[in-house]
Amino acid sequence: MTKFVYDFSEGDKDMKDLLGGKGANLAEMMNLGLPVPPGFTITTDACRAYLHNGVVPESLAAEVTEHLAKVEAEMGKKLGDANDPLLVSVRSGAKFSMPGMMDTVLNVGMNDESVLGLAKVSGNERFAWDSYRRLLQMFGKTVQDIDGDLFSSEIEKLQENKGYKGDLDMTVDDLKELVSIFKAIIKEQTGADFPQDPRQQLDMATDAVFRSWNSERAKIYRRRERIPDDLGTAVNVCTMVFGNLGEASGTGVCFTRDPSTGHSGVYGDYLQNAQGEDVVAGIRNTLPLSELEKLDKKSYDELRAIMEQLEKHYRDLCDIEYTIQEGKLWMLQVRVGKRTPAAAFRVATQLVDEGMINEDEAVTRVTGAQLTSLMFPQFDTKAEKTVLTVGTPASPGAATGEIVMNNDQAEERAAAGASVILVRTETNPDDLRGMVAASGVLTARGGKTSHAAVVARGMGRTAVVGAEDLLIDEAAGTVTIKSLGKTLNAGDIIAIDGTTGQVFEGEVPVVDSPVMTYVAKGLDAALEVSPDEDTKELVTAVDKILRRADEKARLEVRANADNPEDSERARAFGAQGIGLTRTEHMFLGDRRQLIENVILSETEEEQKAALDALLPLQKGDFVGIFGAMDGLPVTVRLIDPPLHEFLPDLTELSVELAVKQAKGEELTEHDKKVLAAVKSQHEQNPMLGLRGVRLSLVIPGFVDLQVRAIAEAAAELIKQGKDPKPEIMVPLIGSVRELQIVKDQAKGILAQVSEETGVELDLPVGNMIELPRAALTAGEIATESQFFSFGTNDLTQTTWGFSRDDVEAAFFQNYFGHGVFNVSPFESIDQDGVGQLVAMGVKNGKAANPDLHCGVCGEHGGDPASIHFFDAVGLDYVSCSPFRVPVARLEAGRAAISNESTVGGVSASA
Ligand code: PEP
Ligand code: MG
Repeated sequence: MTKFVYDFSEGDKDMKDLLGGKGANLAEMMNLGLPVPPGFTITTDACRAYLHNGVVPESLAAEVTEHLAKVEAEMGKKLGDANDPLLVSVRSGAKFSMPGMMDTVLNVGMNDESVLGLAKVSGNERFAWDSYRRLLQMFGKTVQDIDGDLFSSEIEKLQENKGYKGDLDMTVDDLKELVSIFKAIIKEQTGADFPQDPRQQLDMATDAVFRSWNSERAKIYRRRERIPDDLGTAVNVCTMVFGNLGEASGTGVCFTRDPSTGHSGVYGDYLQNAQGEDVVAGIRNTLPLSELEKLDKKSYDELRAIMEQLEKHYRDLCDIEYTIQEGKLWMLQVRVGKRTPAAAFRVATQLVDEGMINEDEAVTRVTGAQLTSLMFPQFDTKAEKTVLTVGTPASPGAATGEIVMNNDQAEERAAAGASVILVRTETNPDDLRGMVAASGVLTARGGKTSHAAVVARGMGRTAVVGAEDLLIDEAAGTVTIKSLGKTLNAGDIIAIDGTTGQVFEGEVPVVDSPVMTYVAKGLDAALEVSPDEDTKELVTAVDKILRRADEKARLEVRANADNPEDSERARAFGAQGIGLTRTEHMFLGDRRQLIENVILSETEEEQKAALDALLPLQKGDFVGIFGAMDGLPVTVRLIDPPLHEFLPDLTELSVELAVKQAKGEELTEHDKKVLAAVKSQHEQNPMLGLRGVRLSLVIPGFVDLQVRAIAEAAAELIKQGKDPKPEIMVPLIGSVRELQIVKDQAKGILAQVSEETGVELDLPVGNMIELPRAALTAGEIATESQFFSFGTNDLTQTTWGFSRDDVEAAFFQNYFGHGVFNVSPFESIDQDGVGQLVAMGVKNGKAANPDLHCGVCGEHGGDPASIHFFDAVGLDYVSCSPFRVPVARLEAGRAAISNESTVGGVSASA
């Protein structure tokens, strides 16, 4: 039979899955011999059963009775006894800490009789009635779902009528009065009396804690923190100890190191004559922990010794809750403490220096997300700010600028030297110009993986998206903050914080991030700009950890870059090559016309002439990129997007020509040709249409042009004594035959250019895996391919059948709500589906061709969780936007260290 209840003495810190974090750590402290009030934990198994069946498992009641009896025997008291009651707390505690998201009930066991007994044995009538009052209030609110304001407004009313300053002024009679008012509220709201039976209170409180796993705020928190929905929470039933028994009692929270700086010292606070909830509610000001030394030296010394013991034991910064009951110290909770990103890096290296952990562990103690937030410029925390609204933080950083509402405004103001924030209802690919010109992007709609968010992250632009409180009227040039009834105009200054999602009015000063200086220019430069010793310690810590990550990483990290500037940046950030150059980006702007000429050409000669005109330009692009990446591989992808992307939009063009005709103007031959081409290129599903390798088969001249440009650029650089390493990549392969055709053609051109230039050019030719069919036939394709690059953006689209540009805004929120997934599969690889195709492709590809080099170049290449997966399934490299390179390096190191013990991990078998 499944065991659902564990005494604190039966567990340990490694049993978090079953006992939750709080239960496992209480057990660990118990095992260490620390003063933990007796109690037991009801497992997450019981919670899952309750959530699944709507009732607790049948055997639970008997187990609770047995464990409660043990606690009662140990304490020499019975739960809710009329003469000398045992009282317990019923607290939630999931595997991952979800602070404040779930429920807790204190003082279970109080009733009309035990309140009298407690008053007598404690000799403190006020305390007894206050404890009863608190139970009624918490029980009514959290267990019985009664609006909490009904209770708190009664307290306020009473205090106001009597002219009290706070809770401590309330007399025994006041509290008795509140008890009867609260009981009446419960009766009125639920139709039944407050349950006087202590065991019934305990069982109802347990069920309520289980239910709180699915409260709205808990669900939202889990989604944000990517905590799985099916874990459930444990329930800890713990003997109550009281910090509110008078001046010799109190409660507090402390940290073994400062969670915001990482400094070692005495951090924490203490609230005399109070219970934990008073600290959380901020009703009274707490004292710094150091004051406890003056109030109660014995408890203080004991606590300090325990703090040291716990930090040594957990080998990390600990966050501790304690209570002192009439001079006796009790430990109520310990956990590895949350900390700021800067503290995470500092603490990790401090612990290495102190000999508590080794360098590899230090790498696992920090995350890519923490490094990201350290790399972006930051608002000066000391500055005064007015918050207008809060949206979804989508791309970290701090940006201040004038409101601009479209591309033209953005470019015009930026060209005039202004810093601008592009404010749009939502963005689409047409807004790219504006986004490039802006320092930040703010949208009223869209989530973390909306176009604005993805593009902004890729470019390292600060972005806040989905600020639904905003009404944006581009025509009027206004931005209205609905809840404030306030309207701003284009040109007004705002500031956005991409780490918190806050939008501020007016200028907010920013400070440069020294960590950014470090990743771009190295340690010496960063130390030079560091304003103080703390910052120096931080950049040194980042350097130590990143260097260790590089040593351990198995995955190489490349960057996606389409021009020499991005390539140089990527290289400075530590990229070991370019994993994806999207050549079509080179055909925009002035060159769009040249591609249009290719499309409009009617004869072979015309087409050749149009392609020839592109050759020197395209070659120049490659000379720049290969030169910037001298000695490192650069994977160049042949043209990929549907041709209509280079032509005017059908609707716009039709309107333009109709207006021309309405004005009595003649349409030129060119007008007619363009219109015909636009019509003939129109596709219902361009994503699944004439694009990728299909274009190369239909217009082979593109292959001739692009391969020649690559080859000539390489030959030119080699003649200059350089070491270019281009690789030719064919997109959207579905069949080995498609690859064979393009590869043969490419090898032919390479041979020609070799002969013409006298430079040997045996460049690798490989392909992208973006279609399920490619993954399924990877073994065949690999016999013709020198490398695979998994295009997980398209592979996600084609595996799920999701059109990326449509589905996120249309219904992903709904899907999150239904628990179909709790993170967009475009943001983090869908390990069970798309990921299995990747795993299968690598495995079968490498089996057929052991020299096959495999990487990933979709957005997922820069996502920490995805990087760990790619390491486990045996990819050779990931490629991501230049700004994500340092994060990917760190995560590649972390993945290698944590996958070391699980070689060929579970998900690797497809
Ligand atoms: C991909 O599909 O993952 C990819 C990198 O190609 P693109 O995003 O350019 O379609
Ligand atoms: Mg693609």
